[in-house]
Amino acid sequence: MNALLLAVMLSAQDASVPPINSASPIDAESPIDAAPPIDAAPPLDSQPRTAPVAQPLPWFAIARVRTHQPVVALTFDACATLKQDNGFDREVFDILKREQIPVTVFPTGRWIETHPAEARELAAQAWIAFGNHSYSHARMTRIPRRKAREQIARTEALIAELGRQSVAFRPPAGAWNRAVVRMAARQHLPTVEWDVISGDAGGHIAAAKMVAVVLASTKPGSIVIFHINGRGPRTKEALPDIIRGLRDKGLGFVTVSDLLQQPDAEPVSARPAPFGWRPLRHRRSGPKENSGPGVVDDDSPG
Ligand SMILES: [Zn+2]
Repeated sequence: MNALLLAVMLSAQDASVPPINSASPIDAESPIDAAPPIDAAPPLDSQPRTAPVAQPLPWFAIARVRTHQPVVALTFDACATLKQDNGFDREVFDILKREQIPVTVFPTGRWIETHPAEARELAAQAWIAFGNHSYSHARMTRIPRRKAREQIARTEALIAELGRQSVAFRPPAGAWNRAVVRMAARQHLPTVEWDVISGDAGGHIAAAKMVAVVLASTKPGSIVIFHINGRGPRTKEALPDIIRGLRDKGLGFVTVSDLLQQPDAEPVSARPAPFGWRPLRHRRSGPKENSGPGVVDDDSPG
């Protein structure tokens, strides 16, 4: 084999296997997958906070960013499946509305369909950015790619009907791999998880404990996950103290897209979780029927 060809092949191999902490852009890894320029769909003037994140996107799911800016992103999932509508936590919404804190809400398509009035109400708030949380809360790594693509596209269409555009994709239960990240990137969305779990899902943790955990673990560049669909029955109790406590630490609030666009922001990879997060007590006994595709886990953070 000719030496030049060999060198080209080796360098191509290197490029396809970046180290886990590398922030190499997804387009560098696979030029064929390159998405069209993001300015094909400019953000609405009235919603500057929801501007899409500039390309190129990292190839991993983002847990947080490294930044010297004293800002954090509070995020609220609104998960629903084909069989489980869940609800809307109006008290959480009222707290956020009173505080006018920029936040990012990640609804599933099913949640939008089962809560049309509430979804419109969220979309009418300039301080809320939207994220895409799949259509039926499927574990994206465990369904065929065509269906996974539809999970994102169908929800994006529902969000577009609300006059909005997602700023990120959050895979249900945090189940991600490179194929999922690439799929979201093709739809112009960075894949975003969290680095701080409020623990609100399922209501097993007392409000005071949630406050203590969030205040102790949140730092500049953090992404904190909560729920706004009734799966976090104590979130409303904890949220005022969390907001106050983070402000006392000198931290301000931004949407996920603003966080990713801080001038010095370096995305940090979420831990690999191809099967998603599971509550500790389920780990020893293996997968349960309530952790399959399309089912909301009671305690799964995402
Ligand atoms: Zn969820």
